[in-house]
Amino acid sequence: MRRIIVQKFGGTSVADTEKIKNVAKTVIKEKNNGNNVVVVVSAMGHTTDYLVKMARDLSKSPSSREMDMLLSTGEGVSIALLAMAIQAQGYEAVSFNAMQVGIFTENIHSKARIIKIQTEKLKQNLNEGKIVVVAGFQGVTEDGEITTLGRGGSDTSAVALAAALNAERCDIYTDVEGVYTTDPRVVPKASKLKEISYEEMLELAQAGAGVLHPRSVEIAKLNHVPLRVRSSFKTDDTGTLILGVEKMEIDRPVTGVAADLSQARIVVCDVPDVPGQAAKLFSKLAQENISVDMIIQSYARKVSNTNDIAFTIDSADLEKAKETLNQLKDNIHCGEIQINSDIAKVSIVGAGMIDRPGIASMMFETLANLGINIKMISTSEIKISCLVDKSDADKAVKALHEEFKLASDIIADVKGDLPNV
Ligand code: ADP
Ligand code: ASP
Ligand code: MG
Repeated sequence: MRRIIVQKFGGTSVADTEKIKNVAKTVIKEKNNGNNVVVVVSAMGHTTDYLVKMARDLSKSPSSREMDMLLSTGEGVSIALLAMAIQAQGYEAVSFNAMQVGIFTENIHSKARIIKIQTEKLKQNLNEGKIVVVAGFQGVTEDGEITTLGRGGSDTSAVALAAALNAERCDIYTDVEGVYTTDPRVVPKASKLKEISYEEMLELAQAGAGVLHPRSVEIAKLNHVPLRVRSSFKTDDTGTLILGVEKMEIDRPVTGVAADLSQARIVVCDVPDVPGQAAKLFSKLAQENISVDMIIQSYARKVSNTNDIAFTIDSADLEKAKETLNQLKDNIHCGEIQINSDIAKVSIVGAGMIDRPGIASMMFETLANLGINIKMISTSEIKISCLVDKSDADKAVKALHEEFKLASDIIADVKGDLPNV
């Protein structure tokens, strides 16, 4: 069988019929290179946001099943239009939704994980010479229920298909030319990275760099799928290649800066300092499928023998978290529950920070010099995150990007000239 290339085009790339015609050209070019092509598309433009808005106009907390029924429709429009555009240019194409392909997920709405993908139908159509167009973002449970993979999840559909089909490469076509040292819309001088490791990309994506859905990077890493982020509009540009760390030359401590503006902080005050409290709290949240990010537990106060437990969640889960915590309050005998959504997580990421002391203090000093108060801190081997006021996020990203010498006009000189820490 010929090599299979999976291509994915995001919302901006298929925002109108002119853009869809251009996408068809890019797809056909890959087909003419002698490859079998599977194309994954997102909903057109801001369709998904528009669908979410309509749902919210009708209900404060719409049922997650109906949300998935609604949001999955967006991708249904773009697959059919793209298949028509390809056919109109004289090539055979066929579109499939997730149910038709058999993209099976867990039985969880709004952020389901893919369990398995049936490849027979895809391979059969490819063998017949057709270009196969698949809806991103959607899945189906064993019981035939429609699910979605979480916002931005079409990237994950594409990488999972590439893994299942043993594809040569997965190309993520988007509205920027690759992965940058930070969001180029926030810092116009951000530099485009030629390569980045799976590990760093995963941390950046989880830290809020919206260019790739975190799960897509995880699947690419697990299955060794070569992943490329490139421009839909400048298709001759090779973009950014995401690959294993052993192939990377690490020449600076920090590779990228990211901000996540969609976090909410919850502080559970005056929790009795006895064993099992954190277990009760977080297992209940886990049962409700609410992922927790940063966690801090304060020292126990001597007089009251209580502590405070603070943690962050995705603000999309806030309503559900409030309900869950209210049910739990009497069980853990805690005091007040404080909630703050006006916060952002700002992170620096870099495999080069391993065993380099001083990077964290450089970050804290940069924020301190701007008078930015740090509300929480968390670290991994290759990431340091600080929770700050949402209004400070852009300022913090710009300053950190400068502090770690990531701007495009200086990055070329940085090699061998690392900050002395
Ligand atoms: P698509 O609709 O193609 O999936 P997204 O909007 O999901 O596109 O992702 C692309 C956007 O990600 C860019 O327009 C950019 O603003 C944002 N972004 C955030 N961080 C980064 C980064 N480090 N590098 C590149 N783009 C980034
Ligand atoms: N259309 C979905 C969203 O807007 C999925 C995607 O774009 O990847 O989140
Ligand atoms: Mg996206």
